[in-house]
Amino acid sequence: MRKFLLIFLSIILIPQLQAAEITATSCINSEIDVVVLGSGGPELTDRRASTGYLLREKGKARFIIDFGAGASLNFERVGGKIEDLEALLFTHFHVDHVNDLPAIIKASFFSDRERDLPLYGPTGNHIIPSTSVFVERQFGVNGVYPYLSDFLTGEAVYRLIPIEVNADHDNPRLFTTKIGDFSIQAIGVDHGLLPSLAWRIEKDGCSLVISGDTNNSGKTLEHLAKTADIFIAHHAVPESSKDHVAQHLHMKPSEIGRISRDSKVHHLLLSHFMHRTEHTEDETQSAIRSYYNGPLDFAKDCDIYQLQTGKKIGSCM
Ligand SMILES: [Zn+2]
Repeated sequence: MRKFLLIFLSIILIPQLQAAEITATSCINSEIDVVVLGSGGPELTDRRASTGYLLREKGKARFIIDFGAGASLNFERVGGKIEDLEALLFTHFHVDHVNDLPAIIKASFFSDRERDLPLYGPTGNHIIPSTSVFVERQFGVNGVYPYLSDFLTGEAVYRLIPIEVNADHDNPRLFTTKIGDFSIQAIGVDHGLLPSLAWRIEKDGCSLVISGDTNNSGKTLEHLAKTADIFIAHHAVPESSKDHVAQHLHMKPSEIGRISRDSKVHHLLLSHFMHRTEHTEDETQSAIRSYYNGPLDFAKDCDIYQLQTGKKIGSCM
């Protein structure tokens, strides 16, 4: 078997993140939106799909960001076509962010996709494999789905190409690339022991930023989220939480509010709910409002938000 191709894209080293180029421009494209494929976390009792988002332009699927359990059903509900996708982007490899990946790779066999599909994700460590090893262990000839290995070897009609992005939040480096006519940026964020990334996707001055799961101890999010048209922040612990483990992994609403204020985000969308953050809307709002006074929404599965206005424009339910 031919070993599958690893592509290491150039990463721009920026000693001082403040010096990096994220310029404030206004969104001039009304046809870019984001679909919430899943607004939940790992629980299976919350009546929400696990985490996933779909960025579309003119109703066409362009980028999937995370793809947890149930996200594939909502991708189907919104009429997403695998052949339209530019890339899959992953924040990290916890189950609730990646569990529907085999489903979409298998389903692609029945789609019209012919061009290679890049899969971007974090570097690994002693706790969890890197993106390339993660993909190999699933779809390689010795992986758990060897019957899908053609997608790595190039013997299928297209090739799945894993691309690793440095997720070190202690020495954060802004990753930048261009995919199609979209500008993509990512930066390492602190999610306990798991290497994790936050993502920014931008076109025509319209920007979507997704925090991923993080406690933001490295203060890397406020840089990436600068003047984001929509900032999706993961709301997995309530303001009143005394759970030290949870707080080690996630940020409280007050931190989300502070980031949103400091980054001057245009619209804040809370997602990745868990039982402990359901029915805490008043407490959450007041914690956020002590920092940030802009538009604020609580995501539900299948919600569709337009980047230009930040407004909900539909649902795939
Ligand atoms: Zn999660």
